[in-house]
Amino acid sequence: MARPGSKQAGRDTGRALEQAKRCATGRATGRTFTALIALALVLGAVVSGCARETAPGDHNTAHDPGRGDNETGLPTVSENLPDAFRPHPDFDLTLGELRDILEGVSGDIRGPILATPQAFLHLTAEILEQSPELLRLVDRRHRLPEDYEPTDLVDLQEYGDRLTLNREGLSLRLVVMPDLLAMVEAAAQDGVVLDLSSTYRSYAYQEWLFDYWVEELGRERAERSSARPGASQHQLGTAIDFGSITGPFAVHPAGRWLAANAWEYGFSLSYPRGYEDITGYIFEPWHFRYVSRPATRMEREYFGGIQQFLLEFWHDREQYFRERYRSRRGSPGSGT
Ligand SMILES: [Zn+2]
Repeated sequence: MARPGSKQAGRDTGRALEQAKRCATGRATGRTFTALIALALVLGAVVSGCARETAPGDHNTAHDPGRGDNETGLPTVSENLPDAFRPHPDFDLTLGELRDILEGVSGDIRGPILATPQAFLHLTAEILEQSPELLRLVDRRHRLPEDYEPTDLVDLQEYGDRLTLNREGLSLRLVVMPDLLAMVEAAAQDGVVLDLSSTYRSYAYQEWLFDYWVEELGRERAERSSARPGASQHQLGTAIDFGSITGPFAVHPAGRWLAANAWEYGFSLSYPRGYEDITGYIFEPWHFRYVSRPATRMEREYFGGIQQFLLEFWHDREQYFRERYRSRRGSPGSGT
């Protein structure tokens, strides 16, 4: 961050104003935002955020060597901002309160959030406007009830002309479909076929499947590679197993393409290599969960690209952010 009054500070201030204007036309008006701009100018701080409405990669053009940028290339907010500073006009939340609720969170996560709190809250607002089920934590310790079934499941046979299905009876939540179809189309343009092998699984089916693997592998191995009933993300209707559902999928063209590009369409690799202790599951290069585009951006920029870290954080703090959020688009969480 440049010293106030320096040439660099002048450029930063200009950029802050520019960015603030874009924010103001897009989302914010009124006294809160004017105060925010004024404070940023006084401190020579650069306010980040709202740039998230641009396409991925666009913000990299703003990078300037020698500035206090984080890895996203976005300018950082000065650490000297006072506790009373409100980082985002849509949240009744001061920087001091944000610092407080991040106590105990790993520095790898807390650091980036406090470096760009406005950008973080901008993504938080977008996520709060969506179906809360998209980020619901489901794992070995957080199981879904037996009667949990999404209400907007669609039979993928209806999309048979646009999807490659490896078997009949596949279904997903409707909310997944626009981004899934966009992703499949983008892969096809790169010459890659994304074929779907497994999608929604009911509690009853998981029960049958788990019993089957216990028979085949024994209980201990079955528990490492298969989910107990209710512990599978597939019951959410937003998880997809692509291709062969085997280890070599990681080096298959479809596996490589997904690893590099799925995040841009809101899909996240649930069980990455080297995180078995964290996720409770072995590396599954074929298993992706739809969490939405703002959520995969948040996952990459603040949670090291690890879905489990994002979901656990959200599980513990969603209510806190929801209570402080002033929705601009009707009641929060009313989406499907
Ligand atoms: Zn799976």
